[in-house]
Amino acid sequence: MRFVLASHNAKKLAELSAILSRLGIEVVPLPENAPEPDEDGQTFEENARIKARSAYQYTGLPAIADDSGLEVDALGGAPGVRSARYYPGSDADRNWFLLKQMENVGDCEREARFVCAICCILPDGKEICVRGECEGEILTSLHGAGGFGYDPLFYVREYDCTFAELPQETKNRISHRGRALEKLANVLAKRLK
Ligand code: IMP
Repeated sequence: MRFVLASHNAKKLAELSAILSRLGIEVVPLPENAPEPDEDGQTFEENARIKARSAYQYTGLPAIADDSGLEVDALGGAPGVRSARYYPGSDADRNWFLLKQMENVGDCEREARFVCAICCILPDGKEICVRGECEGEILTSLHGAGGFGYDPLFYVREYDCTFAELPQETKNRISHRGRALEKLANVLAKRLK
């Protein structure tokens, strides 16, 4: 069976393909000329659903979309669904801005989590939605050169380092996205039997 991924991101396609190929599912990228719907949902799940529905309608193929971001407790869950556009500019600019917002937040109040919602529209139009989370803390300075986005500020206690210091393979296994993908594979395996 063939699914379309509602994204042009080659890394996401490779990560998803590696997991879903076990189920005999081929994942193809969204055509370049496909419309880009407004991601104006209030939750990660809503945004993933908007993207998956749009890809399903455009291609006629069963579709998968994800939406992810960082939730910081001391900031009332911000940047949340606005993670990619929290502050204009680069990842470095957004990390600087996040640190600025947290200047007065104490060491014991810096809990945060990465969240990933994946929505899948099946061939009959029914939906599956799963969520993966990874708990951590926001440091007061950047550590590590790997990863992307908020990785250099996101400390994971279990590994005593940031996401940006973890080998890619380890991050893929414990990350919000990795966890959501594993859940999706389990649910799909049962639904497509
Ligand atoms: P997307 O929904 O996967 O495009 O992610 C939206 C935004 O959330 C990204 O632009 C990043 O700012 C942030 N984000 C999501 N996942 C990660 C991650 O694994 N590491 C660091 N930042 C992330």
